[in-house]
Amino acid sequence: METDHKSDYDNEFDPTCLFCRIVAGTLPSTQVYADETVVAFRDRHPAAPTHILVVPRRHISGINAPAAEDGALLHALIHAANSIARDEGLGERGYRLVWNVGPDAGQSVFHLHLHLLGGRSLGWPPG
Ligand code: AMP
Repeated sequence: METDHKSDYDNEFDPTCLFCRIVAGTLPSTQVYADETVVAFRDRHPAAPTHILVVPRRHISGINAPAAEDGALLHALIHAANSIARDEGLGERGYRLVWNVGPDAGQSVFHLHLHLLGGRSLGWPPG
């Protein structure tokens, strides 16, 4: 029988995509949240004491992709990010949610991900 690397929830899985493989559990991560739409895990190179990536299970290349303009999906990502921030103790002092889009913003992984950063005073404007 052929091995199916898709998780139960995947309907668009790219086997060459790092975050698809993390979602599927074939690459390790430190997961902090999961539901039927969204997975969140700690960034491997944290830019702040709390640095978590909130990603959809399905493969979407970025927030500028047409598939990202899905109200239910965006709601799930933002709801998860705010809930994780509260669980991480950031509710009072605050945090930053960031979408990087394209080369000028330094996007390096082309699977939609929302950065949740906090735990220190974050400068503005960003570098
Ligand atoms: P971006 O530059 O906005 O595309 O963000 C990609 C993020 O993914 C960076 O902050 C990386 O540190 C992070 N990253 C890359 N590989 C991994 C990994 N295997 N596990 C967790 N985070 C990762």
